[in-house]
Amino acid sequence: MNLKECLSFDDVLLVPRYSDICSRKDVDISSDLGQGIKLKLPVISSPMDTVTGSEMAMAMASNGGLGIVHRYNTPEEQAELIRRAVHEGTTNLGAAIGMTGDFYERAVEVVESGANVLCIDVAHGHHEMMEVCIKKIKDRFGSSVHVMAGNVATLEAFDCLASWGADSVRVGIGGGSICSTRLVTGHGVPTFQSILDCQNTTYETKIIADGGIKTTGDMVKALAAGADFVMVGSMLSGTDETPGNLLTNARGEKHKEYRGMASKEAQRSWRGKNSTPEGVATVVPYKGPVVDILEDFRGGIRSGLSYSGVRSIGELRCVSSFIRQTNAGQVESNTHIKWRAS
Ligand code: IMP
Repeated sequence: MNLKECLSFDDVLLVPRYSDICSRKDVDISSDLGQGIKLKLPVISSPMDTVTGSEMAMAMASNGGLGIVHRYNTPEEQAELIRRAVHEGTTNLGAAIGMTGDFYERAVEVVESGANVLCIDVAHGHHEMMEVCIKKIKDRFGSSVHVMAGNVATLEAFDCLASWGADSVRVGIGGGSICSTRLVTGHGVPTFQSILDCQNTTYETKIIADGGIKTTGDMVKALAAGADFVMVGSMLSGTDETPGNLLTNARGEKHKEYRGMASKEAQRSWRGKNSTPEGVATVVPYKGPVVDILEDFRGGIRSGLSYSGVRSIGELRCVSSFIRQTNAGQVESNTHIKWRAS
């Protein structure tokens, strides 16, 4: 068997290039989603019930990104979350739907409430039901709504969803921090490799790198490899704006819950029972207001572009070059100070 070797974010580094950029502020990291939606920060929050409700959607939009309000509630509850954000003056708002059951009624309800991005949010998007779903949504809303679909791991799947009418596709299967799909099913492709493969598409459809992005360095690698946007869950988890209560343990340490939507815990709370889980639930340290985290994203991505000597994401994609790093290189790439308590 001739097996393809696939790369993860940690396998690669971008080579620094000559730069004449004097300030990070000279770097434009905006990215165009289409349908008149341009994001100043190319970051989208995951449609998960411990990441994006109305607070996160509002914070994402007001800081230049985009939030996709999760679908693990009734259509009326989700529509209420959307309306709350539209009251507060939020214009760019995403809402997730599934591709079975009440997906169509839910889509109508959330769009009528003000969502302008519909995210058809399924674990394995390269599926015949996805074609029916995208076409039904497109027939109803035309180009007035941006249709984001996924997830996929291969170029073949990406092109299918693009040909069915998706305006953007979430790329990444099995890479999420809370995901156990690869362990449970043996299937998946490292997210970085999926981006490299999917950027060979001839469609204009936007690429959203999703799952396994742990640092702003990974974001820059994803954008350089061909992603138009990155979607993150864990990097936003634990902030004030995520749904869920602050948990304080006996030592006074504060945490918030972060869970995969296919975890046993999440399934039980949104449908009262569970099938084989493909995700895990955990708690993460409390991180405070998301605006500080988003400011770090902005700074890190801008700095990344300046190391490549470029002023835009489009330029980054054209000029950047990757190298592979060895295990020793990976160790060196992480902070590795040795210290001794005095
Ligand atoms: P993270 O940014 O690495 O934490 O990954 C977040 C992404 O994981 C989401 O945007 C989804 O694509 C994916 N995801 C969410 N819940 C689950 C799950 O239960 N199993 C597998 N993947 C999940």
